[in-house]
Amino acid sequence: MANDRDPHWACLKGCFEQHPERIARSTSRYRFAKGQLEELLRLLDGRCMVCLSCHAMIVDTATRTAERKQRGVLCLWCKDRVAGYEGSYGDGRPLASMCRCKTGDAVEWGERISAATAQYLNRTALLQIHRENADRMAALIADVSTRGADPHQVWGGAPVADLPQLPVREVAPEPAYREVEPLARPRCSNECREHPEHVYFACFQEPTELRDSDVDGIAVRHYVGWTRQHPPIQRVGQHGATCRESLVGIIPGTTADEESVKAKESCPKCGKPLEYRPRKMRPGKS
Ligand SMILES: [Zn+2]
Ligand SMILES: [Zn+2]
Ligand SMILES: [Zn+2]
Ligand SMILES: [Zn+2]
Ligand SMILES: [Zn+2]
Repeated sequence: MANDRDPHWACLKGCFEQHPERIARSTSRYRFAKGQLEELLRLLDGRCMVCLSCHAMIVDTATRTAERKQRGVLCLWCKDRVAGYEGSYGDGRPLASMCRCKTGDAVEWGERISAATAQYLNRTALLQIHRENADRMAALIADVSTRGADPHQVWGGAPVADLPQLPVREVAPEPAYREVEPLARPRCSNECREHPEHVYFACFQEPTELRDSDVDGIAVRHYVGWTRQHPPIQRVGQHGATCRESLVGIIPGTTADEESVKAKESCPKCGKPLEYRPRKMRPGKS
């Protein structure tokens, strides 16, 4: 997919080749040994390790890890593709197929960009046994110099059927707790990270005003909230220390569960209705 015009036509904000000073900056930022990044870029002819057509613009690091574990070098479109595949923009999204180097007549583009992404993730996964980026980089350089930039010939005409496949992303199973009435569910710990969302409820000794609630400025005897924050106790604390101290329980649940708890359930602690909102603030009343 060579382009006869400006070789940097796709590079927008710039690539390593256009901005050699970025090589030095990345080298110190990721603690590569001197000359490693230059060597990798030389082996790749300055190209992105996925599409092999756009110029490499950034050092890619594994997402969802605290440290900056370097993988390879990518263009911005392929970086976005990899991040999307790994769930950075939510689960269940189709693999982004956009690339600056994609031309209108690209044959089997979708299959090949997907296979190239798989090839990239497979080969860089092998680097993760090394602890330091300089060691990862040395292993990557050795791999690219022996097997080449495109070992499976994704862009070299190998039949699509022979290309690496991206593993199907795991979609979180429908939680079993849905079958059970909210207050009959097992309570979660304050620190629970097992469930994606939680409903929590508090029972106060006397009418209490909460911060950051749906009844700001009104003193209430109970409070029921929903959160996606982890740990859930963090969200509870945002209403104030009293809410934390008066917490009765945290359960796994959705916003629909939150609403049904507010509207229908009684407080397991004092037995009074959990509905704390003034009548005019309840859904369906106006
Ligand atoms: Zn460029
Ligand atoms: Zn790319
Ligand atoms: Zn590209
Ligand atoms: Zn939980
Ligand atoms: Zn109560």
